[in-house]
Amino acid sequence: MEYLFPKIDLHVHLDGSLTLKLAYALAQDRQLIASDCTLEQFRERIVVGRDNGSLNEFLARFELPIAILQDEEALVLCTRELVKTLALQGLEYVELRFAPQFHTQKGLTQHQAVKAVIKGMRIAMCEHPQIKVGLILCMMTLGEPSLNHEANLETIQTARDFKGKGVVAVDLAGAEGITPMEGYRDCFELAKEYGIPYTIHAGESGPAASVKSALELGASRIGHGGHCLEDSAVMQEVIDKKIPLEMCLTSNVQCRNQLSYSDHALKPLMERGAVVTLNTDNMTISDTTLDQEYDKAVRYLGLTREDLIHLNLNSVRAAFADKELKQQLTRRLMECL
Ligand SMILES: [Zn+2]
Repeated sequence: MEYLFPKIDLHVHLDGSLTLKLAYALAQDRQLIASDCTLEQFRERIVVGRDNGSLNEFLARFELPIAILQDEEALVLCTRELVKTLALQGLEYVELRFAPQFHTQKGLTQHQAVKAVIKGMRIAMCEHPQIKVGLILCMMTLGEPSLNHEANLETIQTARDFKGKGVVAVDLAGAEGITPMEGYRDCFELAKEYGIPYTIHAGESGPAASVKSALELGASRIGHGGHCLEDSAVMQEVIDKKIPLEMCLTSNVQCRNQLSYSDHALKPLMERGAVVTLNTDNMTISDTTLDQEYDKAVRYLGLTREDLIHLNLNSVRAAFADKELKQQLTRRLMECL
């Protein structure tokens, strides 16, 4: 179905959302794939494309995209192409995210990687003025916090360098539950000191307790958060504090973080009054688009067009964007009701 109202995606990973043809050409150029690898074979290495794959299978899909995104040209081109794709799909505001510490394998600094992504965003926004884009820098949890503590602190410093110049927030991503989130407190304290807001991946594969930890660390939004439904006190806190949840249907079902589309936590949380938003997560790896997420919300959860507009109004409220843009998007969405 086509959804003709201003659409917003607050949770899109750059590396998980590369345009296949461009990524294929860049992988060929950089000799990252065999010379006889076809586009279809390349696609099979990146796209999960069916539900109920394992989390490991899912994570392995990021290896090639990250290998491609190790130089300025690739980062600029892929970002530009993704923003173009989103603009042509009718999105008007997007918060892209990536983990700059994964893009330093061939000599770039985190600062240079972020600069390149912002360059790609700016070019695309000039070419497609109907879309506005903000960038979220992800810190990573890889196990013991000490493993990449320096890199995570560098991500916060880099966010400060580009605050108000493309970067709108920071995030903590990676496998949940391996280590207590508390180990990242000093990174978040630094973000707070710099006045940089943050969202945290929690309650995706982890339990409601991980959402509780994210709230204790001062997250102003939660990436996914579906499992807060399993603890009424945590859920109530999310509702009472109006903490927006960046929910995604396809990726949750693919990673078996939610049992099925019909059983997805989005609807019960929405009905209980949580500030729910609907997003794509990884468009290419999950083989989805925002319209397809909406289709699933309509088909499996019985959401109406009006519900979807309300989810977008929640996205505007949750966005790390300036007041003027928020007012403009709110007005246009209200006109569609
Ligand atoms: Zn995510």
